[in-house]
Amino acid sequence: MDYKNDIGYRKETLKKLLYNIQKSEDLIVKALYEDFKKPEFEAVLTETNYVISELKDTIKNIHKWANRKRVFPSLLNFPSTDYIYKEPYGNVLVIAPWNYPFQLALCPLVSAVAAGNRVVLKPSELTPHTSAIIAKIIEKTFHVNHVEVVEGGVEVSNKLLAQRWDYIFFTGSVAVGKVVAKAAAENLTPITLELGGKNPCIIDETANLKLAAKRIVWGKFINAGQTCIAPDYILIQKNMKVNFISFLIEEIIKAYGKKMDKSPDFARIINTKNWLRLANMIEPEKVVFGGETDANQLYISPTLIEEPALDSPVMKEEIFGPILPILIYETESDIENVVSRYEKPLSFYVFSENKSFAKKLIKTYAFGGGCINDTVVHFSNKRLPFGGVGHSGMGAYHGQLSFDIFSHHKAVVKKANWLDLPMRYAPYKDKLASIKRILDWI
Ligand code: NAD
Repeated sequence: MDYKNDIGYRKETLKKLLYNIQKSEDLIVKALYEDFKKPEFEAVLTETNYVISELKDTIKNIHKWANRKRVFPSLLNFPSTDYIYKEPYGNVLVIAPWNYPFQLALCPLVSAVAAGNRVVLKPSELTPHTSAIIAKIIEKTFHVNHVEVVEGGVEVSNKLLAQRWDYIFFTGSVAVGKVVAKAAAENLTPITLELGGKNPCIIDETANLKLAAKRIVWGKFINAGQTCIAPDYILIQKNMKVNFISFLIEEIIKAYGKKMDKSPDFARIINTKNWLRLANMIEPEKVVFGGETDANQLYISPTLIEEPALDSPVMKEEIFGPILPILIYETESDIENVVSRYEKPLSFYVFSENKSFAKKLIKTYAFGGGCINDTVVHFSNKRLPFGGVGHSGMGAYHGQLSFDIFSHHKAVVKKANWLDLPMRYAPYKDKLASIKRILDWI
């Protein structure tokens, strides 16, 4: 079991993992439903299938990604051949959240294994059915000294964080991200933090409102709004608001019916604590649509809130639920006033047919990633880095980048012995002018 050096072995274990996931797909989908009624379509599209596709891509490319890469040498070192070696970090800890509990646990695990690391995964305690099936699949696939799942809550997480790791990959809230960063600092352990934020969605007067409403309703209410890259709030040009709200309502009813609590396509809130947090954000006098809640069902309907005050509960923190505040703007400085109240978000969306307006916003604001005229879909392109900036996270992954973040990139210059230019050696007398000329030239 030489996973550190034997790329063939890594590839075989990943193939086994792919087989075991495909064989258990129904059970995984069932577990996700038991945890918070995640609809089957969403479970397949955003969880099992996503991981399967990442696995296939990794299996196909593992040798290419793992190979040492030859780079153009510096003329100063002539004659030399220069390489980057991808070296596994060693022991990797992956801590996962509950909202996409299969995908966000398995994707980093796959890449950490591909890169040759030993991995310990701690899935979320809030999705016990999914965590249990993950543990079973991993146990069936890997030797325990290669990949291990440790189930448990905060206490277990803290015990793991107290150990020394060579890399920590954390997905979760900003508050816990800080706990992880502090623990990692103790041993100068490198980290990736995939966190959250308040994601703006800006709509100007040139936008295709009907299509915007459809795409926003999908991106916001998938997983009942419990998506780190869901639009958090809308900022719409003042004159468009009334029309846009009517399109939003139309699209919500089209997607979930008039009895939204009966829809098989709408998930539940993860637990009572989060249900209460969300229910308290709903100020009845500001609700223009929805606002229905049921504590027993952990249900909150798709809810639209019209022009909440910026200091109201719904505008204070990341919503992470099916509540969508709609704010208005008249000038670009109104946009600035709202967006810059918050830390740099994980995502940013702009709906506009005005190319220069959209481009200007994309360039003006710092954010992890985003879309023009859509929501959430930037996540699905493996060739795009996925990650936050500032308080929404550090580091990015997906596709080859995931392999690369779990590898130390070791720089090696292989010097030839047939020539040894004398320039750099002391005594330096009279050599400076010639060295300067060479430096100027190269
Ligand atoms: P969380 O931070 O509460 O928990 C994440 C993990 O950390 C869990 O495994 C949990 O057991 C552990 N944990 C919780 N409290 C801890 C503590 N005090 N010390 C050590 N470990 C602790 O996050 P969550 O509620 O599971 O997920 C929701 C948050 O995650 C949202 O803020 C969302 O935006 C963010 N998120 C980000 C991404 C991303 O890719 N950037 C993806 C999903 C979720």
